[in-house]
Order: sequence, then structure tokens, then C-alpha cells
Amino acid sequence: MNRAIQASFDNYMATGDIGVIAICLVMVILLMTSYVSRTRSFRIFMSIIGFLVGASLVNIGCHSLLLKNDPALYNLAYAMHVLYHALLFIVFFLFALYTTVVSGMERRRARSVAIAAAALFVGIVGVDVFRAATGAGFKIVEGRMVICNVNLFTIGYVLYILLLLVLLRRVQNLLYKRVLYGFYGTMAVSVLIRFGQLAVDQSSLTTMTFVFPVIAMLYIMHSNPYNVTLGSVDVRAMEDMVRNMYARKVPFIYLSLLLPDYDSEGKELPDEIRASVRRFSGDYFRSGVLFQIGNGQVVLMVPTRRNPDYEARIEKILESFQRQYRRFRLPYKIVIGESVDEISRKNEYASLIRSIQRGLPENTVYRVGPEDIARFNREEYILSQLADIYNRRDMNDPRVLAFCQPVFNLQTGRFDTAEALMRLRLDEAGMVFPDQFIPLAESHGYIHVLTEIILHKTCKEIGRLTEEGYQIARISVNVSVLELKDDDFCGDINHIIQSNSIDGGKIAIELTESGSEADFILMKEKIEQLRGQGIQFYLDDFGTGYSNMERIMELPFDIIKFDRSLVIASGVGERSERIVENLAHMFRDMEYSVLYEGVEDEGDEARCRGMSASYLQGYKYSRPVPIERLRNFLPKAG
Ligand code: C2E
Ligand code: CA
Ligand code: CA
Repeated sequence: MNRAIQASFDNYMATGDIGVIAICLVMVILLMTSYVSRTRSFRIFMSIIGFLVGASLVNIGCHSLLLKNDPALYNLAYAMHVLYHALLFIVFFLFALYTTVVSGMERRRARSVAIAAAALFVGIVGVDVFRAATGAGFKIVEGRMVICNVNLFTIGYVLYILLLLVLLRRVQNLLYKRVLYGFYGTMAVSVLIRFGQLAVDQSSLTTMTFVFPVIAMLYIMHSNPYNVTLGSVDVRAMEDMVRNMYARKVPFIYLSLLLPDYDSEGKELPDEIRASVRRFSGDYFRSGVLFQIGNGQVVLMVPTRRNPDYEARIEKILESFQRQYRRFRLPYKIVIGESVDEISRKNEYASLIRSIQRGLPENTVYRVGPEDIARFNREEYILSQLADIYNRRDMNDPRVLAFCQPVFNLQTGRFDTAEALMRLRLDEAGMVFPDQFIPLAESHGYIHVLTEIILHKTCKEIGRLTEEGYQIARISVNVSVLELKDDDFCGDINHIIQSNSIDGGKIAIELTESGSEADFILMKEKIEQLRGQGIQFYLDDFGTGYSNMERIMELPFDIIKFDRSLVIASGVGERSERIVENLAHMFRDMEYSVLYEGVEDEGDEARCRGMSASYLQGYKYSRPVPIERLRNFLPKAG
């Protein structure tokens, strides 16, 4: 027996394997106490940990048997030794499987990788068993495991490492570069330790070398700082980076790309687009970091000092983006800006970008300027006031103003109805008009409380007017379709009307058509419920969207409000006038009343009168006025 070979398994100490078990336990504890998505790759990861613990236990067991130096136990020791190898090769096999899963490799290719890795496993373990059985592989001599001839385990180890390297190269275009480097680096450490210990006749750390890649997996994939296929980090990481750069007074620029088609719950960017975004993140700027802050939204942050020529680089990246656009033809919104202390201090880039995007037409590139920052600050202020109004739920909140626009009734020849329109009066923003706060209130869930306040103020005023002897048929209040989703909607409306002791018939609700089937069902349900109390319903803004006539006819509206765009269209030419006229006529035939909105002058009025109008509303008669001034328009009884 050759002494050098004989010594190669001599110096085993259980510390390495005990260390492996301990580290695996720690990882399991960490995973149990943190949030991890239970993906397929995570399940593979957990089974790897299981097999590693198993391998360590078997290895410890095998060596303690050897220590007993009892020939009766030799066969068991052989079996355990072979089992130990088999378990480690299973871990290798799972590494390969894991790589195909996280890289999202195409099914067919993933299957052939799995087959290759499995074949390697069967081959090596088969030969190992055969050699153990025939005594050709290793022998136990005086309580020591002695390797004979070729070290098969080392050959298997090397073959698997090669397989993994080939595999990683294969998927390098599917994974973010830094993630790949993380794995290459860890593998290098493992291989170094494995062969380093061979050189000094050690074997205690073999199992440990399998743990390093597992730690890398835990850190990179399951504690999840990276979106591995995009190479991005999440919005919290972005806030972290902003905080850091602000503290160090490092100026930066940000480039945001929104793909509206993918920016909703459950949507994911297709692989091709990921690949393209991934390239954008690394190829144009030095030290840029990419963040994914929405399903269809990424932001690249770039320190300007490292990129003094950033203007030229922005030009380049945009040019190349246009080339990509010609390929994918997906609608986009790009926002580019430079860091501003005020926004950095409040760490509000995500909201700033979103706020700018809201008003941005699709397929535009927008450079943020000082006026955008001012507008954003105003919006934030309005939003904080809305939140406060919402939280107080004070029906008499002085910040919410009810304005009213009188409506001319052609049948009675009087102004006996009106539309309630909301404004806000805020200390630091002055008078705020609906276009500046209704969308905000809707998207933050504050709209219903505002409606309640307007309805309450309207009911109160109707009560007062009636008491004073004015004749008011009804006042209509605008309601957002979103509000109908709340089960309490009808109850809230009824409660306000009743607590003001007015008749339901004095109130109308204006709703705008929505494209969705679910909204249609909701509308129908709520309209039918509230009609019982005498409340009338108006279809608002008819002519602004793609109207679905069949659906409109199914909803029991009383009045159809023709939008100002139709009033304008009817003045453009004979053909369009005929269209509007016929539409109005048809509604009238179906016993709806037609109200024209936005009647601004005599010409508008004359045309509308000739087109089946029942009501007219617009600047020609009055702009919206504070609700107390409505009495100037109303007839008095007697
Ligand atoms: P809307 O319901 O279509 O209201 C009519 C808008 O047209 C009002 O704008 C009104 O001032 C304006 N208008 C009236 N006559 C004319 C005219 O002759 N020419 C032109 N060009 N415009 C005219 P306002 O008050 O700024 O309201 C804008 C929108 O905000 C409203 O459109 C409505 O959708 C929304 N809104 C207003 N108040 C409320 C509310 O209390 N609740 C909800 N949910 N939305 C509201
Ligand atoms: Ca309206
Ligand atoms: Ca309208």
C-alpha cells in the first residue's frame, strides 16, 4: 500500500461536518423568521439543505464506526461511505436543477440538463458502489479508510464542477451579471478549499465546500436583494441609496422607464424585455444601479460625479432605447431628472416620478424641471390635507366647498335644478379645482368622504332654500364609480339625506360610464337600490368615451348629459350636427331627458334647443358659484 494514498483520509475530524449541520440550522432559522416566497427554486434550495445535513450525519457516523476498529462493522462503514458520496452528488445534481429553475431556462433545455446531471450521478455512484463492493475503490485498513488506485470522488467532483460551469455559461444571458459573479466567486472558494485540503491530506472540509454555494443562494436568491433576471433592486433599496447619497452630498440623476402595459398587479415583464432592460442598466453609465419600483417600472440611478459627461450618455441611451422601441412597439413613459435636495431629504423620488407620469402622454421622454418640483410639492400638500379631511370625516369641514352651477329647464323656462361641484380652499394652496384633487382623492381612497361632505352641504342648502320659499326641483351630485364598490355606499347616502330631513327626490347622482363589466353590474345594483328613495340618476360626460349603447339602455338613467365636446362638434359641420341631433333624438324617444353641458354662447344655445334638449347648462347662464348664491337664480313660490 502506497503511504501517500493511505494517508489521504487519515486526518478526518468531525468539526467540519458539525459546522455544516450548524450552518444549515442557522439558515433554516433565518428562513423561518423572515419572509421568503415559496417558489420552486426555494423548495429545491430547502432540499439541498436537507441532503447536506444528511451527508454530514452519515460522514460523522461512518468515521465513528471506523474509530471502533471492529471488522464486523466494516461492511456498514463501506455502505455509509458510499452513501455519503451519493448524497453529495445528489446535492450537485440539485445545484444544476436549481440553476435551470432560477434562470427560467426553457423547458426542453432544462430537461436535457437534468438528464445529463442525472446520468452523471448514476454513472459515478454506480461505479462507486461497484468499486466498494469489489474492494477496488477503497479499503479499511486498521480503522482507516484507504483510497486505492484512482480517487473516484475527486473525479466526480471535478466533472460536476465542469457541468455547472458550462451550465452557468449557458444561462449567462438569462441572469444578471453580478448574480453570476456571485456564484462564480463562491464556487472558486469551494474548489480552492476542496483541493487545498487534498494537498495537506485532509478531508474534514469536503462537505463544507458544498455549503458555500448554498450560502450564496440564500443571500442572493432568497433574501432577495436582486431581481435576478432583471438585475434590479426594489423600492426600499432605492430609498436606502437616496438616503445614503443625500447624507454624503452626492448628486445623481435618475432615469425612469414606465411600461404602462405591464404596470399592474400580477403582470411581469417578458424575458426579451428583461434582457433589454438588463443591458440598459449596465452599458451606459458608470456605477448606475437599477431599481424596480413597480411591475412595469424601473429607475436607474447614476451618480453624476462618476459620469461627468452624463448628458451625452443620456443622449446615447435614449437613441438606443428608440431602437429597442422600434422592435417592441410598447407604449412607454420616460422621466429623467437630477437630484434635488428637497426631494432627497424627504426621499420622495418614487412619488415624484409617479406624479409626473400621471400627467404624461404615452411615448414621451420628459425632463423634470423646477416647476415640476413646485407642482409636486403642492400636490403633496393637497394630499396631506385630503388625508386629514378623510380622517376627521367632519361633514361641515370648512375646507370642502360646495359650488353650484344652475341648470336651465327648457320645459319650465326656469333655473330649477343645479349641479353641485366641489372645490377645496386650503391655507397654503388657496382655491384648488377638481382637476387637481379629484384624481388624487380617487387613487388614495379619499373620494367617498368628500362626496359625503358635498352631499351633506347640498342637502343642508336645499333645506334652507325650501324653508325660504325657493323652488328647487333637485341638485345633482357627482359620484365616482369607485365609491360604488363600498357595501355601505347606499346606506351612507340615505343616512345623509335623512339626517337633513329632505326628500330623496331633491337629490340626483351623476355617474360616468365605465368600460368594465364589474362596474356596470355595480352601477345597476346601486341605481336600482337608491331609485326607491326617489333619487334620480344622470349619465355624465356622454360622448367623451367609447359608449356602449346596449349597456346604457340597460341602466335606468333619468337624464343623459351630453358633454361639451358634442356641443362643439355639432357646431363644426352639418354632418356632425346631424349625428348629435339623432343621438339626442333617440334618447328622447326612449324617454330619457337630454341635458347639454358647456353651453357657452347664443350659438351653442340655439343649436342645442334644436337638438331635443330638455336642459341647458354652461357659462352662458352662469359659472359655478358658491352654493349660497344659487338663490339668485331660483324662482320663488307664488
Ligand atoms: P363635470 O361633472 O363634467 O362638471 C362640469 C365641469 O364643466 C365643471 O368643471 C364646470 O365648471 C365646467 N363647465 C361648466 N360650464 C362650462 C362651460 O360652459 N364651458 C366649459 N368649458 N366648462 C364648463 P369643474 O367644476 O372644474 O369640475 C370638473 C370635474 O371635476 C367635473 O366634471 C367632475 O367630473 C369633477 N367633479 C367636480 N365636483 C365633483 C364632486 O363633488 N365629486 C366628484 N366625484 N367629482 C367632481
Ligand atoms: Ca358632472
Ligand atoms: Ca360632465
